[in-house]
Amino acid sequence: MFYYLILTIILLVIINFKSAKKVNYYKQRAERMYQRAIKDGMTGLYNYEYFLSELEKSNSPYSLIMFDIDNFKQINDQYGHQVGDLVIKDIAAKAEGVIRKTDLLARYGGDEFIMALFDCSPRETKVVLNKLHSHINRASILVEGEEVSFAVSIGVYDLDDGIRTKEALKRVDLALYKAKREGKNCTVCY
Ligand code: GH3
Ligand code: MG
Repeated sequence: MFYYLILTIILLVIINFKSAKKVNYYKQRAERMYQRAIKDGMTGLYNYEYFLSELEKSNSPYSLIMFDIDNFKQINDQYGHQVGDLVIKDIAAKAEGVIRKTDLLARYGGDEFIMALFDCSPRETKVVLNKLHSHINRASILVEGEEVSFAVSIGVYDLDDGIRTKEALKRVDLALYKAKREGKNCTVCY
């Protein structure tokens, strides 16, 4: 009788251990799937959908910075798509090094990126912009001994109270459009 009891306890411990392992496995798998759904596969930055949903949820004021690689088609044409991919990854890594932990950075699509700086004073926004400029503009990567240089145009919008997310996005997009029209490799505030 005593041995049966011990055996039952051992069996229960084994079953418990196995099901805990299974639960853990499914939890990790769900987390991996979630991360894949909210991030851009190439750069590891958040994707547009996640960025938009986080902005819409936020109650804090924010500044938006949108930037787009200048003449990127030419880089693709001259050096090939794979080198173009390396430029995108390099810019993503540099931009990640610029933002604060509380900010949000996403690949907006193609060669376009966007940042939301939450609770950021105009002075702090300027610091981030200066860093972005010094890190990315007139930057280059070495590919098989050849220097591939690139630059970005930047649009900025400081959110006014009462402006909705979609309108803020329209305004920062307009600022970026102006930066392109004003000769590229520059920053324009809305
Ligand atoms: P502009 O200075 O006006 O921005 O000119 P641009 O040549 O950069 O033109 P645009 O931004 O319209 O073109 C973006 C190009 O980026 C078009 C597309 O082929 C390329 N592209 C988009 N996604 C990727 C990608 O993941 N990898 C590579 N290599 N190219 C991409
Ligand atoms: Mg471009």
